[in-house]
Amino acid sequence: MDGIVYANGTWGPARDARVSVFDHGLLYGDGIFEGIRAYNGRVFKLERHIDRLFESAAAIRLAIGMTPHQVAGLVLETCRQNAIVDGYIRLLVTRGAGDLGIDPRSCPRAELFVIARPVGTLYRRAPDKGISLATSPFRRIATDALSPEIKSLNYLNNVLAKMDATDRGADEALFLGRDGLVAEATADNVFVVTPGGIATPPTTQTLKGITRETVIEIAASEGFRVDERPLSLVDVWTAREVFLCGTMAEIVPVGSVDGRPIGSGAPGEITTRIMAAYASLVRATGTPIPSAALEAEAV
Ligand code: PMP
Repeated sequence: MDGIVYANGTWGPARDARVSVFDHGLLYGDGIFEGIRAYNGRVFKLERHIDRLFESAAAIRLAIGMTPHQVAGLVLETCRQNAIVDGYIRLLVTRGAGDLGIDPRSCPRAELFVIARPVGTLYRRAPDKGISLATSPFRRIATDALSPEIKSLNYLNNVLAKMDATDRGADEALFLGRDGLVAEATADNVFVVTPGGIATPPTTQTLKGITRETVIEIAASEGFRVDERPLSLVDVWTAREVFLCGTMAEIVPVGSVDGRPIGSGAPGEITTRIMAAYASLVRATGTPIPSAALEAEAV
């Protein structure tokens, strides 16, 4: 609850930020968000995250009331005010305050929030070990009910799967779709390493992960073949290597799935190469966060 956040149209201490009890984001999960990382004083893939935010907004017919450029400016300014060098940014837009009924026409104005904190870690693991996955009894929410491509504030499907995986002693849940095919984890996309290259499910029943896109770019530059194709649980159980990827988690090796070891259980060769390439890419690129010192110099 520390730091400076952007809320209600202005910046202020996080402890003073207020959300209306009538906000439909709170009442109905009616809103969208982005999780973004900053490394080395730069925001990684900022424009892509802003684009995806606007895509999610269009999908739920939410008018953000600002241009993508203005939203990007708010993210950078929030990072500056929190002196972020390596950090995690949470950008969210709710439908705003309205009546108690779900009809969004009672919400005249969307609310936008930006939180920027020094970075945390998603999964704790020993460097020589991968994390454990358990196939979730909760199927990923159906694409024709609420498409997982939309990064909405409705995360209960994910929360239930995560709690169940924790109860069963696993680090993370692996979601299958309604068709029984592999979808994604609760906050990450999934890849398998095959003899011919790497493969990941198409995004018809997953979020269009920006880290997933980055892994595909890295694989191309490393000369690995990438297949976006349906994957079964057997494909995962028998893969040489499995890894998850997401903005917060980065690239995470998987050591076992449903109690079955993947490879030796330790991070595999291809996963390790992709982790290294990702680590250098995120530190070398991104939109610079203006620093107070630089601005002072410019005056
Ligand atoms: N799937 C889900 C359900 C997620 O919440 C996330 C994290 N935002 C991802 C995948 C990974 O997406 P990204 O790489 O854009 O963070």
